[in-house]
Amino acid sequence: MNQRLEQLSTWLTDQDISATFITSTPNIFYLSGFYSNPHERLLALLTFQKEEPILVCPMMEVTQAKSSGWQYEIIGYSDTDNPWELIQASLAKRNLPIQSVAIEKEHLNVERYEHIQKLFPSSHTFRSVEEKMHQLRMIKDQKEIQTLREAAKLADFGVQVGVEAIAEGKTELDILATIEFELKKKGIRQMSFDTMVLTGNKTASPHGKPGLDPIKKGDLVLFDLGVVLDGYCSDITRTVAFDSVNPDQRNIYETVRKAEEAAVAACVAGVEIGAIDKTARTIIADAGYGDYFTHRIGHGLGIDVHEFPSMNATNTLPLQIGMTFTVEPGIYVPEIGGVRIEDDILITEKGYESLTSFPKELLIIK
Ligand code: MN
Ligand code: MN
Repeated sequence: MNQRLEQLSTWLTDQDISATFITSTPNIFYLSGFYSNPHERLLALLTFQKEEPILVCPMMEVTQAKSSGWQYEIIGYSDTDNPWELIQASLAKRNLPIQSVAIEKEHLNVERYEHIQKLFPSSHTFRSVEEKMHQLRMIKDQKEIQTLREAAKLADFGVQVGVEAIAEGKTELDILATIEFELKKKGIRQMSFDTMVLTGNKTASPHGKPGLDPIKKGDLVLFDLGVVLDGYCSDITRTVAFDSVNPDQRNIYETVRKAEEAAVAACVAGVEIGAIDKTARTIIADAGYGDYFTHRIGHGLGIDVHEFPSMNATNTLPLQIGMTFTVEPGIYVPEIGGVRIEDDILITEKGYESLTSFPKELLIIK
């Protein structure tokens, strides 16, 4: 078994849990190397203490699962099969003593949970495998780091394309389409979330929706984007000004930049996550914008664009070598606009490496 499956088996043995029943795409990809979006169909990975694991997927994906390197049992089912019956038959053949099962409590829906209960009638309580998966996925190996590095470079490129596409009268969606077109030409099929290009006062909405608003002179323009590369995500934000910048916009920009650079510089193994948030928040509050920084400093980054750990003020978890996450303070003043600067950070032996590297000096696009 690969190292990740072995780590999970060791955990099962230590915790005295008989099996896991995992159904989320990211966790199955992490453990098996097989990336599948099954939509409403069942995708599942059953793992045990000692016995070989079982992958359950639609029949039409069996070949793909094998070519992803999966060497163990696969239960492929057609659209007229009942996959639960096939799993039951396979488990009956193995005749394993299953006393307790770990599941993804945050991910499973009630219907599937009821199926799993029927599958394992002697498991009276279900444990959660999610915390263990968070821990495993939190520390990236060299191959994952290399992929994240390349994904971050493509995010830098996306911002570069966006900045170059700015011109009077162009709409947010014009620029967005240009960014994604250029990334597709580089082989990117999927963005890690809906690309954001916001102008004017819309920049003051951290989750704003790009539309047909044309760019005007004196606007701030905010880009927030990332790509999925070989199953791993990037996530960058840069804010620039079009033609000119007023004193309020500049003050907000320089405050966010100072806060972001200080928070990034504080990223060293052993430092508590809460301290990173506090570093940025103190600078923003001291500048008088404390009420306008309305979200946490960042989030873990990997197979999911938002994953463990949550980079928030009350998290006492210390940073560890191999962790990757975002640092993304922002100030959002409704009548002036918003600025956010976001980088992807890796904790290294020396301190940190910023995977994204688009410049942070205020750009005024003429
Ligand atoms: Mn972002
Ligand atoms: Mn982010």
